[in-house]
Amino acid sequence: MSVSVVVERATETIGESPHWLPDRKSLLYVDCLIGGVRIWDSMTGQVNKVHLKGCVGFAAPHKDNHYVIGLNQDLCSLDWNSQNITRLASVDSGLPTRVNDGKCDANGRLWAGTMGLFSASPLDDPLEKRGHGSFYSLDADGNVKRHMSSLNISNGLEWSTDSRVIYHIDSVPGTLTAYDFDLSAGSLCNPRVILESRPDTLAEMGRPDGMTVDMEDKLWVACITAGKVIRLDPETGKVLRTVSVPAIKVTSCCFEARGWTNCT
Ligand code: CA
Repeated sequence: MSVSVVVERATETIGESPHWLPDRKSLLYVDCLIGGVRIWDSMTGQVNKVHLKGCVGFAAPHKDNHYVIGLNQDLCSLDWNSQNITRLASVDSGLPTRVNDGKCDANGRLWAGTMGLFSASPLDDPLEKRGHGSFYSLDADGNVKRHMSSLNISNGLEWSTDSRVIYHIDSVPGTLTAYDFDLSAGSLCNPRVILESRPDTLAEMGRPDGMTVDMEDKLWVACITAGKVIRLDPETGKVLRTVSVPAIKVTSCCFEARGWTNCT
């Protein structure tokens, strides 16, 4: 496997939330801390940009040139052409947080988590427990459910290919947890930890951030601060492969070949 850079300086702050758009042969991603939503067109090499006020934790395909985004404490729909934003829901009322990573399940239900606001990088001070983050779902009827609380930096996330397992990450202290997932009900249960960051592995492995699944149901996990992506067997927790990339803060990954479920 060879690694090549397709966009130099693709973001001004933190690049996050890559989603491949097969119809457009383009990559959707965000420039988190400056409210940037970007689409890189692989055919032309052009990067189209929208800038919003605040932090954008994630962007995911919605419908007809609309994208669902996590903007500050809101889940919104962004009309790419007009750049108009429609708020779908708000979360964490009264808490010093923002929406972080999010994705849609196979039924088009949106899942997103939150994290505390920091004056500096939260990874610089990993021992301080903050616990303001939660993990939510938003269905097509506008119902918001909170599934987890007391998280530090909600991240990940991903499902097994049969949608019977959901994988979630809390990047501080650095825990990847699997849950049984009921796609029809939009519920999760039976947590079991697959990967945990330890002080003696931080230099080599960093902390887990974003991830994706391959067709063999193995997880590819971005190890932020370690400049690598690992392929992980979620059944055993064994690292099957390590891919080094020319960037220290690797936040996430996705496959071009995989189609994504749009948010309904
Ligand atoms: Ca992330």
